[in-house]
Amino acid sequence: MQKSALRDKIFSGSRISRSEAVGLFSWDILDLGAAADARRRIVHPEDTVGFILDRIVNYSNICEAQCGFCAYHARAGFVEPYELGIDGILGKIDELARMGGTQVMLQGGLHPERGLEHYEAMAAAVKERFPDIVLHSFSPAEIIHMSRKSGVGLNECVARLKSAGVESVPGASDILVDRIRKIVSPNKISRDEWKSVMLALAENGMKSSATMTYGMGESIEEKAEHLDFVRSVQDETGIIRAFIPWSFSPGNTGFEGMVPAGGIEFLKVVAIARIYLDNIKFIQAGWLTEGLGLAQIALSFGANDMGGVLTEELVVKATGVERIAGMDDFIGLIRAAGRVPVQRDSDYRTIRTFR
Ligand code: SF4
Repeated sequence: MQKSALRDKIFSGSRISRSEAVGLFSWDILDLGAAADARRRIVHPEDTVGFILDRIVNYSNICEAQCGFCAYHARAGFVEPYELGIDGILGKIDELARMGGTQVMLQGGLHPERGLEHYEAMAAAVKERFPDIVLHSFSPAEIIHMSRKSGVGLNECVARLKSAGVESVPGASDILVDRIRKIVSPNKISRDEWKSVMLALAENGMKSSATMTYGMGESIEEKAEHLDFVRSVQDETGIIRAFIPWSFSPGNTGFEGMVPAGGIEFLKVVAIARIYLDNIKFIQAGWLTEGLGLAQIALSFGANDMGGVLTEELVVKATGVERIAGMDDFIGLIRAAGRVPVQRDSDYRTIRTFR
């Protein structure tokens, strides 16, 4: 298709094909940004940009998957193992609650001796002490691990987590291309297993998200394959509230020699995600890996959400990338981008607008 015809298709809000998405990667970056911004305005004419006050609680780095692309998990001689007890977890959430935070992400490694019962008890203890904090917790890989360790079917596993207080699940997708998964995380779940968790969540009336970790040796066609898989799962389930792309940080991983993807690649991925994922309303600017400056620019490339003001995060930090930002930083940079900052809840409803 001619560039002008594809441009018309994008500006009219029509669905584009996977091969058209591949073609977008060779567009001039500013043309691509303008097209993505036009798509964002169709979905979000209101010009607001959201953020949420939340905290990631990384409860343990003990993990039997030992993925090569992960710097966080315990490794003999490199990274000391740790596991937080319930008091340690509640103490961290208490700090968030006192700051007015509304959401917690419990996330950790695939512990060889912990099954579903352990995580049910963890979620129930958090909800008992903090009934108003939303538990957006446990990734698809953790859920499959719990289900296997306890010999419980996936649907029942998800239903029991929901009963224990888990409201939604971060869709931690890495890259949904099995060729790359076999290289960087051969012991972690496959793409089809990721989808099986999404179907179980849909069956149980729970929401999720999808992410994309790119820059791990995948081709442009494989980037488009990831986006296409996410779009098809969303067509089937409708449970994906947001899409969050971030680049692979190779520091302290088994792929340390890899060259980070860079800013232009990030803006392309954000923009093409906005255009291609016509069934997902919220596209986040991944400031945690890309930094606040580039995330701010991504707001003109289709992104309309800054994600969480995280008070602690250990997984990205383990790669040597550490970013700290407060609510005032978010408000300032959103305003400077000509947009209206909005504190939101886990369902993307406005809590407070900063005009
Ligand atoms: S990415 Fe997750 S599953 Fe893989 S080693 Fe790290 S903590 Fe474990």
